[in-house]
Amino acid sequence: MHDLTLEKRFAPAPQSKPRWRRGVNRLVARLPLPRRRAAAATKRVDLPPTLVFRQLFDPVSSTYTYLLADADKREALLIDPVIERSEQYVRLVEELGLELVVAVDTHLHADHVTALGRLRTATGCATAMGEMTRSECVSQTFADSEHLRVGDLRLQAMYTPGHTDDSYSFVMPDRVFTGDTLLIRGTGRTDFQNGDPAAQYDSLFDGLLHLPGDTLVYPAHDYNGMTVSTIDEEIRFNPRLQVSSKAAYVDMMNALDLDDPRLIDVAVPANRACGEGSGQ
Ligand code: FE
Repeated sequence: MHDLTLEKRFAPAPQSKPRWRRGVNRLVARLPLPRRRAAAATKRVDLPPTLVFRQLFDPVSSTYTYLLADADKREALLIDPVIERSEQYVRLVEELGLELVVAVDTHLHADHVTALGRLRTATGCATAMGEMTRSECVSQTFADSEHLRVGDLRLQAMYTPGHTDDSYSFVMPDRVFTGDTLLIRGTGRTDFQNGDPAAQYDSLFDGLLHLPGDTLVYPAHDYNGMTVSTIDEEIRFNPRLQVSSKAAYVDMMNALDLDDPRLIDVAVPANRACGEGSGQ
């Protein structure tokens, strides 16, 4: 669920080189020089070495919440937290010795109540959403191309409307948090909260799908047990992306005929108030 290679500082010092690692080294040593150089070049050098990353899951709403932190500066950010799991987030942040500085939602959710207000009360963190939001309680808004900064981490906001008109994705050098705009082998529905399938087509085909193919895709939900994908994988295997035109995409999305989310009448008004007053 998370990338251990990015968290060496938290790993216990190895007593001796594990057997598999000895095997890998032997393999690399035997490669002719140009291929060894190529193998070395595949190491990513553009990520902060001290990124803390956790992918958390709420099984009731199938929501992924992401904890990102700069382990040196000890500052953390949460993306799309769920109110029922607020105590778990606060405990985890404390256990890792971090300070939660901001909680952010990719969009106003209709299927669960946000923890933004609960976390602000518990930790004093800032709460942020994109400038298109109808939420009346966030302490910060951001616009397309602006950066969220947590310690030395920078997440670039990308306005990706379509699922809702307040949907944003967050881009890092090796990964993107896509909210409900791009799901693993799916895309977010576009039939409520000012959803617009034509806008979503543009957000995908003129936006997210232009990121490097090996960019990791972390969505806001998954209903099939998948945790992460890549842009290239989705271009090749996501059935919603196998369309010949914007009109074909619009027709496909308009024909979905889905039931409303169970919590929509509760979640949308509650989330305009950052989840406070939801009775949860
Ligand atoms: Fe959504």
